[in-house]
Amino acid sequence: MENSDQWCFTAPVPRPSDEGKDRAALVKSTKWNPGDVITISFLDGDPALQERVKQAALAWTAPGLANVVFDFRNNTTNTFIRISFVGRGSNSDLGTTCKWRTDMTQPTMRFGWLTLASSNDEVNRVVLHEFGHALGLVHEHQNPGGSFNWNKENVYRDLGLIGWSKEQVDVNMFDPIAQSESNFTAFDPSSIMTYVIPATWTTDGFSVGLNQTLSAQDKSFIHAQYP
Ligand SMILES: [Zn+2]
Repeated sequence: MENSDQWCFTAPVPRPSDEGKDRAALVKSTKWNPGDVITISFLDGDPALQERVKQAALAWTAPGLANVVFDFRNNTTNTFIRISFVGRGSNSDLGTTCKWRTDMTQPTMRFGWLTLASSNDEVNRVVLHEFGHALGLVHEHQNPGGSFNWNKENVYRDLGLIGWSKEQVDVNMFDPIAQSESNFTAFDPSSIMTYVIPATWTTDGFSVGLNQTLSAQDKSFIHAQYP
């Protein structure tokens, strides 16, 4: 499988008062407010790589897109979003759930496979995707407006090979976010929030390749969420 360990999965930070609450209920409540200043810092990483991540992330807040401020700060962990390059895989807390972490030495976002040698396309693709999560966006294939004819056995097998449990696959791949709990549009196969979907994962040959930039719908949707 292409990019065999480069799959992002996102798990909400458990809210102490909210143990066991359905994940789908979090989606609308993870939104920031339009105009919010979202503080961000790096826990580790080469300064040149940090700068590339910063520049890639700022595409989300370009004029006419998300009306929030990504406020990158140095020499502090007193920030909402804390980024680490250590560890395996890439992931991010969903929206404002990063505030629920009380240990400020812990990252809320991780880029496990980015290095100074990563291509600009790869940096843009992963950074835009993870910052999409940080703005509260879920994976596009979990959009309640979409429907897929999954070949579940193949998905369990391929993601099992990189250590995903059946439950992780169910939660991250097959369970759509409840319609009543999310703001959604029609399924957008060119969204930065869409997974790569190999044709072997569907029973009807549907597939999605690597999306590297914000789609037109990504841009209009994030502006509608953060006007
Ligand atoms: Zn993701």
